[in-house]
Amino acid sequence: MKKVYNSLLVYVLLCCIMLLSCSKEPFEKPNIILFLVDDMGWQDTSIPFWQEKTSINQGFRTPNMEKLAAKGMKFTSAYACPVCSPTRVSLMTGMNAARHRVTNWTLRKNASNDGRNDKLDAPLWNVNGLSPEQGIERTIYAKALPEILRENGYFTIHAGKAHFGAQHTPASDPMAIGFDVNIAGNMIGGPGSYLGLQNFSAAWRSAGNEAARIWDVPGLDKYHGEDIFLTEALTVEAKKTLQEALDQDKPFFLYMSHYAVHVPFAEDKRFIQQYKDAGYEPREAMYAAMVEGMDKSLGDLMEFVEENGLSENTIILFMSDNGGLTNHGRDGKPETHNLPLRYGKGSLWEGGIREPMIVCQPGITEPGSVCDELIIIEDFFPSVLELAGINQYNTPQHIDGHSFIPLLKGQTGPQKTLVWHFPNFWSRNYDGYGPGSAIRKGEWKMIYTHTNEEFYLYNIRKDIGEQHNLIEANRDIAAGLAGELTDHLKKLNAQMPTRKSDGKPVPWPDTLF
Ligand code: CA
Repeated sequence: MKKVYNSLLVYVLLCCIMLLSCSKEPFEKPNIILFLVDDMGWQDTSIPFWQEKTSINQGFRTPNMEKLAAKGMKFTSAYACPVCSPTRVSLMTGMNAARHRVTNWTLRKNASNDGRNDKLDAPLWNVNGLSPEQGIERTIYAKALPEILRENGYFTIHAGKAHFGAQHTPASDPMAIGFDVNIAGNMIGGPGSYLGLQNFSAAWRSAGNEAARIWDVPGLDKYHGEDIFLTEALTVEAKKTLQEALDQDKPFFLYMSHYAVHVPFAEDKRFIQQYKDAGYEPREAMYAAMVEGMDKSLGDLMEFVEENGLSENTIILFMSDNGGLTNHGRDGKPETHNLPLRYGKGSLWEGGIREPMIVCQPGITEPGSVCDELIIIEDFFPSVLELAGINQYNTPQHIDGHSFIPLLKGQTGPQKTLVWHFPNFWSRNYDGYGPGSAIRKGEWKMIYTHTNEEFYLYNIRKDIGEQHNLIEANRDIAAGLAGELTDHLKKLNAQMPTRKSDGKPVPWPDTLF
């Protein structure tokens, strides 16, 4: 009798457990589209990310960004690194660039792309980029974002520019870091050509120099000889792959990482005529048409989502990877390209790092909302994982980013301090274009230039153009920021360049106060 009673008890308990588990709605994983544009300036869109629409905004046509912002939340104080690879490695690993040490752009194995600097030698940074395997020289070993998403049931798609691992290293293939599919990505940071008629190849400008063919866009052979722009070819292929994810009944993560709007500019015939007719200079017309082509791609993906009934369960994040290019593109007037921001790509001034960012999470983000809180690129890593409902994961790397998901719900976060570290020599060899370190806290931003060991202090809320260096009148604030910047850099194990004069590293900022 006792035995029967026990069996009955077990049966009842089992029924209770089953009922409880049935009554709990299963978490339906959302689809996620992370739409990253290359070298797009903060103002290069018809939607303003400042208090007013500027004349630069008025020169662009991006109706789909406007549509996305009308449905979601616009971030007005979002930042990335000054150049491509550092941003992309931070995005994929959640680490600050000072920690992962891929502080400049990557391409060939064991080759540094630093320019010349008369006073300094660059540190031994990670010229080979990110690696999913341990023990590869001059790489940062880390577990990447798509790998964690894939382990949690996502169909992970890479479309476009990768640029997080050097040639002949594993991460030159995006599939090595957790993508199920790779459309046209490898080690390159710019396309040989945007034109299918030129086979997306650098052959047309390399004059028989075979080494330059490294820039040829891989994997789109079927479009070779076709009259199609690269942005469109990538979008068509991305949509086909999304269909594959739907057929497999899996949630998808699409990393739509356009080569646009990086150089070399080309005429996108779909959009260029109106800009020519409006009197734009030839390079400005090409650039504006490329921006509109990028926006069309965003619109096509939004349409795909709507047509397939996925609108309620698809999150779209829009971001650019560094500031607008000023030095060898467009009309040759670098000082005006990113106004009201100063300088551009390659700089720690606002023109180099401030980005257009939009997030639309259906049912969560208030339509047309605006968030002024500080965001930096490594924040995307924990944020995307939180959006995917993945709250527990193990990585060999320390995650520096902080989730911005509470902000999507209209909550305010704790005051954040952002830190940049760029101990490298980009194309321009003077202070406005690095090397340097910078800190942003509240309304204050301070830049420490490594070449001359000088400080620039700005009140960004009052002086977004960084025209008034307030360092002399605010030595106490500057000293405090120098101390905080030093603490952060030391914790991140940052590498300083070395002075040619005495062979010593550039001093920590706090030692100069
Ligand atoms: Ca870039």
